[in-house]
Amino acid sequence: MTGDRFARHALVPGWDQKRLADATVVLAGAGALGNTVAQTLALAGLGRLVVCDPDTVAVSNLSRCPLFRAADVGRPKARVLAEALADLAPGTAVDAREAPHVSGAGLAELRDADLVVSALDSRAARISLAGRCTLAGTGMLDGGTHAWGGEVSWYPPGGRCRACGLGPAERAVQDDPWSCAAPDPAAEAGASAPVSGLVGAWLADFAVRLLLGLSVPEAPLRVDAAGFAMPLSGAPSGELPDPDCPLHERLPADVPVLPLDQEATVADLLDHVDVHEEPLAWAGFSRPVRRRAAVRTVTSRLRSAPASARLSALGVAPREVLPVARRDGSGLRYVELAAVGKERQGIPGDLTEARRATTEGVL
Ligand SMILES: [Zn+2]
Repeated sequence: MTGDRFARHALVPGWDQKRLADATVVLAGAGALGNTVAQTLALAGLGRLVVCDPDTVAVSNLSRCPLFRAADVGRPKARVLAEALADLAPGTAVDAREAPHVSGAGLAELRDADLVVSALDSRAARISLAGRCTLAGTGMLDGGTHAWGGEVSWYPPGGRCRACGLGPAERAVQDDPWSCAAPDPAAEAGASAPVSGLVGAWLADFAVRLLLGLSVPEAPLRVDAAGFAMPLSGAPSGELPDPDCPLHERLPADVPVLPLDQEATVADLLDHVDVHEEPLAWAGFSRPVRRRAAVRTVTSRLRSAPASARLSALGVAPREVLPVARRDGSGLRYVELAAVGKERQGIPGDLTEARRATTEGVL
């Protein structure tokens, strides 16, 4: 094969192929929007994509997901997406995380990413991701669809987040009325190939512009039934956060990195904190059932887990930054997990970087 696959990009004003090749995007959601976003970013020449999704491909996904085939039904969405992109755009390294975003991508990964894209299907998941982006100090690009349209919103670091302006009751609501999926399958909303493609392409366009350092609309953009895009009225995304929004705490700049990764055990972790400290998981896990306990309870206290349990099995993400509560009431401190494999195998950098370097050396 001769020629440069990106030759036409080079003619686009403001385009910088190297900048895209050096960029990392974390994508939460590998459904209809996630498919279009991932496909377009990979075709555009993105260097690295981390994609998180706990679900498997369903037959009803095939009408809106260009990267899924009938033979993929029942297989993990994130893995299928990564395999499809390996064929379509082999220059993009894709890390498939078969988990919800909170267990799939650690705060250190979000912090080091150039952009986080939310292609999620519920308000609760979006708000959770917004909080993690704020902690990590990384901007979040959010998209959602409804029957004949959708929205794309950019939340820059330090500005308003997805939850700003919502009251406590609204923050607690589990689903957006315009979400493409509701918790009750009987109440699933309509969704179609053209709308998913259109909103997904807008998301990808915004993502590429942000990665290139170009401007995007400050107000949320609504795509209506006729395919027209218009800015929504409301506070521009660059405005200061809502003072009542609880999601604006930032991680400290000097979080220590432990000589442990996601595959370490609870006992390993407890060896690295004080006996009076309580390390916490961001995703709750089931507390071991005690005799006579009638109800299985969920906890985030890692001391409650079996000492031999691996952190990954408890839903702790790769390169997670864990809060550690001090029992003397002096607040929280944070500890960061090393990249998977880095500590145990002594490889500098994470395994993905090592693999990419090897691959590039061969080509
Ligand atoms: Zn907020």
